[in-house]
Amino acid sequence: LLAAKKEIVRKSGVLEFSEASTSLDDVGGLDVLKAWLARKRRAFSDEARAFGIDVPKGALIVGIPGSGKTLCGKAMSAAWGMPLVRMDFARLLGSLVGESEGKLLQAIKTVESVAPCVVLIDEIEKSVAGAGSDLSGVSTRMLGTLLQWLNDKTSPVFVLATANQIESLPPELLRKGRFDELWFVDLPNLVERQAIFATHLRKRRRDPTGFDLKVLAEQSNNLVGAEIEQVVIEGLGAAFDESRELTQADLERCMERAREIWEQLQYPALT
Ligand code: ATP
Repeated sequence: LLAAKKEIVRKSGVLEFSEASTSLDDVGGLDVLKAWLARKRRAFSDEARAFGIDVPKGALIVGIPGSGKTLCGKAMSAAWGMPLVRMDFARLLGSLVGESEGKLLQAIKTVESVAPCVVLIDEIEKSVAGAGSDLSGVSTRMLGTLLQWLNDKTSPVFVLATANQIESLPPELLRKGRFDELWFVDLPNLVERQAIFATHLRKRRRDPTGFDLKVLAEQSNNLVGAEIEQVVIEGLGAAFDESRELTQADLERCMERAREIWEQLQYPALT
């Protein structure tokens, strides 16, 4: 069945099928969001229908780049045992009048035909920014089509949209009734940074208890999950080049470099 669904999605040419390879345990921190996602799974059951609960519509996760928004989508689809289908609005754009909305409607039909599934729309603001004021009207019509679907949707398709900037999102998208929940993902705190280090060390077959995670977390203030992952990757690379095992010092050195880059990006005029 999964193979058949994969083939349907592949044939669409505009959607992408992702195999579940991440679990919620791979997401460091974000405990409240993870608990909500884990709970929401039950809302797809017959028991929920009998109880009078509607099929979940989806969630919008807003936050800085690299904070784990997409990762949550992947982990969620795996935890729910549903395929993840990526919908990239840029691939839906056509040059003829009405072509883009037509492609979006077709894509919606395709995802509904492979339901239950999770549809991931990354950086949704890029697709719908300018709606209402774009001269061609494409963004406006695409947003209209998407909103209508979110409003009327009864199929077990969970739409997970991510955005980096809430200011660029049209207010209609944020109105209650479109998504079940709106989440804001901030910089990870000290405890979350420890969990993210532990996750990425474990992922690369290193025992996190062999490292002082508290010190690493203290030194990684202001770094997001993607940057912490990079510190582990670079530390491993440095140790491998010198044919020895990864040490705490490798990670601290790589962190120093990551922090220098971060500070230069924050205060370019001062350096
Ligand atoms: P963007 O807005 O740029 O798409 P994003 O918020 O969607 O960023 P992800 O793509 O999910 O960020 O994160 C990139 C990578 O960083 C992930 O694949 C993961 O390896 C790592 N990462 C980010 N946040 C976390 C986290 N909380 N726990 C573990 N790994 C994380």
